[in-house]
Formats: sequence, C-alpha cells, structure tokens
Amino acid sequence: MSLGNSKRTANIEKRRELREQLSPEQEVLKDRRLIKEEVTRRLVSGLQTANLEYDSLFNDEKASLNKDSELLSLLFHRMFFYRLNEKLSGLTCDHTLRLSNQILTQMNFTRGKINEVLEVFKKNGGHCDCEVIYYIESQLIGK
Ligand SMILES: [Zn+2]
Repeated sequence: MSLGNSKRTANIEKRRELREQLSPEQEVLKDRRLIKEEVTRRLVSGLQTANLEYDSLFNDEKASLNKDSELLSLLFHRMFFYRLNEKLSGLTCDHTLRLSNQILTQMNFTRGKINEVLEVFKKNGGHCDCEVIYYIESQLIGK
C-alpha cells in the first residue's frame, strides 16, 4: 500500500502546529550544525547531550497506549523517525522498508534487533517507510 502526498502533508501540518505551541523558556539547539551533530550522536550511540525542538513533540501518555511503547519510544528518542522523515523528504516512497533498514543499521542494532523492530512496524501498519511515519510516528507525537 502506498500513501498519497496529502497524508504526508497532513503530518507536516501537525508538526508545524505543535512547534507553535512550544514554550519559549525551553532551551533547544538552534544552530543547524549542532542539531545535525546531536541527531547523529543520538542515532549512533544513543547519547543525549542537548535538547532538540523535536523532543517536545513526544507525547508520553499517547505513546504508552501502544503495546510496543518501550521500543517505539526508544526509537523516537534516538531520532529514528526524525532521520526517516529527513531521508524521505523529496523522495517518493518505494514501498519497502529500505530506508528504515538503513537507519537501524546506522544505529548499530544487530540483525536480530532490526528484524524485531521491522516486525513491530508491520504489526502497527508500517509496511513501508512512508507508512512508518504515517502510522507509527503519529502514535508517539501530538495530542
Ligand atoms: Zn510507502
């Protein structure tokens, strides 16, 4: 199954709305280079050294409703969905989990762990990269 651009756009709209609700006191990285470094650090080593604007999108209560919330939350905080959004932007989804696979490999997950994650994605309606964003990231962010 593939998703049209309208659904992708709906997610982007939601993201924009949430961004506008951010409290100004919260200190987040603004410098593009520093943001990029923080994202890569979290992806590769899981080490968080600064706050990102993206962090505030996470909805703990909503995420906890999913049976696999522990795994999905870990992926969120390690910037998996952020990176997948980045990689997908400007591309048409090729109806595979190719990019997800690539990112999980970059995260130094074992093959066994990667297969476990992909099974959880499929179970939650994420049969290709764009569906992972549309059906799974959306379970972790927003209201
Ligand atoms: Zn797709």
